[in-house]
Amino acid sequence: MGWVASITGPVNPSTRRWLLWGALVVLIAGLLTILVWLAGRYETSQWQDRLDRDAVDAVSDVRTGLTRNVQALQALQAINLLKPDVWVSDAAGLLCAHREVLHLEWRDKSLAVLAAVDSPFRTPVFDRFGRSGSLPDVQLACANARRISGASYSTSYFLPQSDGLGLEVMDMCLPVSAAGNLAGYVIATYSLQEILAELVGRQLSRSQDVSFTEADGARLAFHGVARRGSRVFTSRQLLDLPGFTLVLRIDSWRGAPDFFPNLLTAIVTAMTLALVGVLVLLARDTRRRLRAEDGLADALAFRKAMEDSLVTGLRARDLQGRITYVNPAFAQMVGFTAQELQGTGTPAPYWPPELADEYQQRQAIRLAGNAPPRDGFESVFMHKDGSRFPVLIIEAPLINAVGKQTGWMSAFLDIREQRRVEELSRASQDRLQATARLATVGEMASLLSHELNQPLAAISSYATGSMNLLQDGPPAKADLELAMRRIAEQAERAGKVIKSVHDFVRRRDQAREALSPQALLDAIMPLVNLQARKLFVRVVTWLEDDLPQVTCDRTMVEQVLLNLARNAMQAMDQPGIRDKTLVIQVKRAASSERTSHTSGWLEFSVADVGPGISAEVANKLFTPFFTTKLEGMGLGLSLCRTVVEQHGGFLGFEANYPQGTVFRFTLPVA
Ligand code: ADP
Repeated sequence: MGWVASITGPVNPSTRRWLLWGALVVLIAGLLTILVWLAGRYETSQWQDRLDRDAVDAVSDVRTGLTRNVQALQALQAINLLKPDVWVSDAAGLLCAHREVLHLEWRDKSLAVLAAVDSPFRTPVFDRFGRSGSLPDVQLACANARRISGASYSTSYFLPQSDGLGLEVMDMCLPVSAAGNLAGYVIATYSLQEILAELVGRQLSRSQDVSFTEADGARLAFHGVARRGSRVFTSRQLLDLPGFTLVLRIDSWRGAPDFFPNLLTAIVTAMTLALVGVLVLLARDTRRRLRAEDGLADALAFRKAMEDSLVTGLRARDLQGRITYVNPAFAQMVGFTAQELQGTGTPAPYWPPELADEYQQRQAIRLAGNAPPRDGFESVFMHKDGSRFPVLIIEAPLINAVGKQTGWMSAFLDIREQRRVEELSRASQDRLQATARLATVGEMASLLSHELNQPLAAISSYATGSMNLLQDGPPAKADLELAMRRIAEQAERAGKVIKSVHDFVRRRDQAREALSPQALLDAIMPLVNLQARKLFVRVVTWLEDDLPQVTCDRTMVEQVLLNLARNAMQAMDQPGIRDKTLVIQVKRAASSERTSHTSGWLEFSVADVGPGISAEVANKLFTPFFTTKLEGMGLGLSLCRTVVEQHGGFLGFEANYPQGTVFRFTLPVA
């Protein structure tokens, strides 16, 4: 039974399939062989049965014939009692009618022969060797006949004949009684062969051999033609006569069933062939199906591998909002197993309890058939351990093969990392801004000392003059008053300078507000002028009439303007440049392809007449820490662009005509 174990045990599927097919073929072959064999056997047994019936019929024929003969002899005796002459002629007539009887004798009580007649069909059988050899058999039969008061038979014996052949014969002794007393016996000598020929029905002996044998099989008499078939059927029946028992044997030489013995077997064989054909077709069909199954399994495995390797969480819900599928990434994201999530409805186990109501409403809207935004929406989920995390959800209707919506399919992105990076970059941006501002302030400090020198020197000289006036006697009130006013003026000027720097550094609130462009320029002008005076630059500001206010972070935008103005002035601080002019201009932005802004934007430009920007420098201009100056930090322009872009605007530059550079940026109108 090893193969059963190997079929049910863990074997690879193709071996298993072959084993199953092999077992099927073997079973069917075995079954069919048995069927064919049974059909043959059935046929054989049919033949044997018929033969057995024939044998029974033959025995009954013989018995009937013998009984009739006994009756005929009884009649013969009754008519011819004690008249031997008449008996002889009647007996001769009887012999004519019964070829199986060879010899008739009438004997008296002591078995002395009173009369005897021989069959007319052959030479008298006892002529050659006389009757004495068979007498003991006759005596035995007659003794038995007297005891049973009826016909009795002797054992058969062989009578050699003058023609060289011989005959197997047996005697029948019939007691004859007269007036209730035994009067003698009639002895009939039968030829066994003639019994077969005469008494057995013609139809029985025509197509088969009939013979008498002894119990041990030795053949005594035979009737028929000895023929041979490939197989001979034989049937034996006992012929039980009073005093003697014979075996009647019938041999049928009909050929034994061969490969196609008869119709039944032929039909079975044809059905077998048909079955084999069907099996072959079935096997081919199965093979085709298996191939299709393999293809499907491959496709499925590929899809599964894709789903499993995704970092995006996937979740399918039915129209009632119950989860029908989640991929491993989703399960991992929320910390529940796929089994735990399968079939859960609302509120989902990964909804933070404090937001469950809001989500429930959102889901109700979704289930009512409203399509979610195509580019997804953000939400907060709760991990099994209780921690909250932000996710980006992209949801779409789940449409089945016949185009019917069966639920919703959602993809989830864990945006924790993205948020962290954004936070980091904002923090570093802020730090950079602060650093850049301090750098500017440091620079301002030197300018400040330079600028404060003048009013302080003026104050000091006015003070010295006033003291001199006081030392020289009572001064003219008007002179002193003038000196004091000058001192106050200069002090106020110095205060303004300090205040402008102080204001710039102190203002750190990041709120956006609506501001007029003029206010922005006013805030930076004192600082710009400080540097302009040092570098001998003429500053020109030009604003379009009736400009609207802009929405911006004041500190940031002032820093941008200041940076651009300072860069422009530094660029012009070179020998050979005449008429150094810085032009700061504000106007409505024309709709241009580059900005795609229309009248909703204002354009600020800062133009210089410096040496311009080479292509090589232009490439790296906005890269942090790129500078061509000895003391430069290279942060200015990259910060400017960040600030402007944070406002939704655009910052760029182009060459100024006839020389220099123009930096432009846009800000949204409030
Ligand atoms: P920094 O001023 O500290 O060098 P910026 O980012 O403000 O840093 O400027 C980077 C570089 O861009 C400057 O070093 C300079 O070479 C160039 N640059 C900026 N503005 C102008 C201008 N108006 N004309 C010519 N070159 C300029």
